[in-house]
Amino acid sequence: MGDRTARTAMPDADALFAPIAARAGEAERTGDLGPDVARLAEAGLLAAPLPVAAGGRGLGTEGAGTAEACAILRALGRANLSLARLFEGHVNAVKLVALYGGAGTRERLFEAVREGALLGVWGADDRTPVAMAPCADGWRLTGAKRFASGLGLVREAVVVAARPDSEKPQLALVPVADAARAEPGAWTASGMRATVSGRYDFDGVAIDGAALLGEPGDYLREPHFEGGTWRYAAAQLGGAEALCAAMIARLTAAGRAEAPIQEARIGEAVRACETARLWVEAAAEKVERGGGAPEGAAAYALFAREITQESCLAVIRVAEDALGTAAYDSRDPIERMRRDLGLYVRQAAPDAKRSRAVRAMLAAGSLAAL
Ligand SMILES: Cc1cc2nc3c(=O)[nH]c(=O)nc-3n(C[C@H](O)[C@H](O)[C@H](O)COP(=O)(O)OP(=O)(O)OC[C@H]3O[C@@H](n4cnc5c(N)ncnc54)[C@H](O)[C@@H]3O)c2cc1C
Repeated sequence: MGDRTARTAMPDADALFAPIAARAGEAERTGDLGPDVARLAEAGLLAAPLPVAAGGRGLGTEGAGTAEACAILRALGRANLSLARLFEGHVNAVKLVALYGGAGTRERLFEAVREGALLGVWGADDRTPVAMAPCADGWRLTGAKRFASGLGLVREAVVVAARPDSEKPQLALVPVADAARAEPGAWTASGMRATVSGRYDFDGVAIDGAALLGEPGDYLREPHFEGGTWRYAAAQLGGAEALCAAMIARLTAAGRAEAPIQEARIGEAVRACETARLWVEAAAEKVERGGGAPEGAAAYALFAREITQESCLAVIRVAEDALGTAAYDSRDPIERMRRDLGLYVRQAAPDAKRSRAVRAMLAAGSLAAL
């Protein structure tokens, strides 16, 4: 049933995403993904990750929605990788609220999502990490987040905060629409500009007990922490697929696609994408369908993440070799696509993730045992 949903959803998704792809350059220039997020809301995609019991389709948040979530994240990645990044954060936030939020918080937030609210997960700390201190009516926050994707668009974020009474991180759902606290100019990366992943200041923000999601340390529980890397890998794969397709189109138009060395490059890029697809889809199923050991599923997802990163970097290298200076021409979307993909594959602590995956595999005895 899940597979049939994915197959029938894809053509619609491609039609939906064509206008998004067409304005990806403008979104980068203006730093405004607002119209694209509105399009996702209108198409019901922002509400799709809600649990089925809450009127959603469990897209990326419940086992049955896994294949479709993978397909949608890839299709979005092909259309505009920056928008895919925002959607991935939104799915992650809905999932964390569904997993760890109290009944009242879930109900309130799910209603906001049904009305079109975009969510995010802001974990990366700025120089002063976000911390909580008790106050009369709940908790007061200090510190700031960096890499806060979707500044100006994300209405509420799941924020990772330090608690005075625990070594483990606490998740909290915090309103983040205060423009005076946002510093979009702090986002100076050369890629993924449209995500506006700047800084947000939480100093003095007060939250009540209902804003807290779960217990300290819940954020790190597997298979949903490292296991969740399959989602950004799926989006990155979409970025690689778009770059690969654009490269083939340019080579074909130039009458160069059948030159033997160009054929070899096309083969390498296509194989890299397909290898990543097989890994990412398998990892998504392992993590979201459950049934196995949570640590094993997370380790498998970390292998898939690494293969995807390698595949994306291979596609970028091959496209640059195949097209030469044309790949650097700012009038061609390929130039932005390779900048976006090159940055997006740089996620936190890749060496530690690789080490964790290998150690888990050694402990399990084989890859198949994960
Ligand atoms: C486009 C984009 C959007 C993002 N959006 C969000 C968001 O909305 N919310 C959010 O929370 N985060 C977001 N992030 C940030 C993301 O979660 C990571 O924090 C970020 O990508 C880390 O990248 P880095 O290269 O600085 O990582 P690092 O972890 O600094 O890795 C750089 C290198 O240093 C190595 N390294 C790391 N730690 C050590 C160590 N202790 N000793 C030795 N070597 C080490 C790594 O293995 C790697 O080789 C986003 C990132 C990007 C690129």
